[in-house]
Amino acid sequence: MRPLDLQNLTAWSLDDAEEFIYELNDPRLQSDLEVELRIGDIQEFPETRNVAYTMCHQGGPALIVFAPKLDDLTLGNIDAVLRHEIAHVLDLCYPSLKSTLRKHYSGVPPTTELFADWLAGLIWDEHIYYDDDLIQTTDVTSTSKRPRHLGL
Ligand SMILES: [Zn+2]
Repeated sequence: MRPLDLQNLTAWSLDDAEEFIYELNDPRLQSDLEVELRIGDIQEFPETRNVAYTMCHQGGPALIVFAPKLDDLTLGNIDAVLRHEIAHVLDLCYPSLKSTLRKHYSGVPPTTELFADWLAGLIWDEHIYYDDDLIQTTDVTSTSKRPRHLGL
């Protein structure tokens, strides 16, 4: 089993997200992004496909909690899940982000989960797919869009 280095994941991924926000050049988006990563308890992730979730508190760092089973996933899963969760953080922490993006891009998805996949694809320039366990992955699969029954 390959150990997961959350500190290193944070460094490169958040830099990309912060750079993207900065490039949008909207003063409402110019606060520092602070994200805390931790490994949660196995009971918090009852289904195979539950591997991470995100919370955003007023005045504190956003929190991304990974399932302990993240160590069993492929690198493609880890990349895609982390990007999807960081996209959720941006969506939660910057309420004006969607409207800013609509000025620059057409086809911004209106729903939370589709928006997270779309934004992750935009920031890291790599499409988010879903694997056989319906977990996000950067590896090309036949499921190129989040299935409706997962919630959009
Ligand atoms: Zn999500």
